[in-house]
Amino acid sequence: MEQEQLKKNFEGHGFHVLFFRSGEEAAEYIVSQLKGRKIAVGGSVTVQEMGIAQRLSQENEVIWHWEKPGRETLLQAREAQIYLTSVNAAAATGQLVNIDGTGNRVSQTLFGPEKVYYIIGKNKLCPDLPSALDRAKNVAAPKNAARLKVQTPCVTAGKCMDCSSPGRICRSTVIIERPSMGMEAEVLFIDENLGY
Ligand code: SF4
Repeated sequence: MEQEQLKKNFEGHGFHVLFFRSGEEAAEYIVSQLKGRKIAVGGSVTVQEMGIAQRLSQENEVIWHWEKPGRETLLQAREAQIYLTSVNAAAATGQLVNIDGTGNRVSQTLFGPEKVYYIIGKNKLCPDLPSALDRAKNVAAPKNAARLKVQTPCVTAGKCMDCSSPGRICRSTVIIERPSMGMEAEVLFIDENLGY
């Protein structure tokens, strides 16, 4: 899909849309936008690969449970004004898909911060919502399960087996069709593969 149509689809749903050639370009943009803010970061390999949290912490308060694990950090994150995350998949028709185990990431993209930045590598972009849901379940979730070293069948099968394992990381699947009322959302599409 052309950039122009992608922009039109997401803007039509109330998202701000920007395109970047690289993660580095996107990181520079985000750092230039945020000063003196309280920023929380979701569990995101994309954000980790970009190294943004460290850069933002020079002029902002950054709360990230991947740097300081624990429930206390997750609760502190709920006070943040800004939330940075990626998605498991983006549908070019204008929807975002995230699967969560703890619920912290999906809940903060729905309510709490003034603004959410979604950072999305080209590997996450799917033509439509069914293919985005399929990607989230059969590509992103098995890779995240492997990263988290949980004992779930998708780790060996390489696709979702709709398990009932105690370690099941798929507890909620959220489709963001429009930003929640009272919340700004910016979608940053990056012409690079980033995250899972
Ligand atoms: S439901 Fe279970 S098998 Fe399917 S992706 Fe999630 S953790 Fe893996």
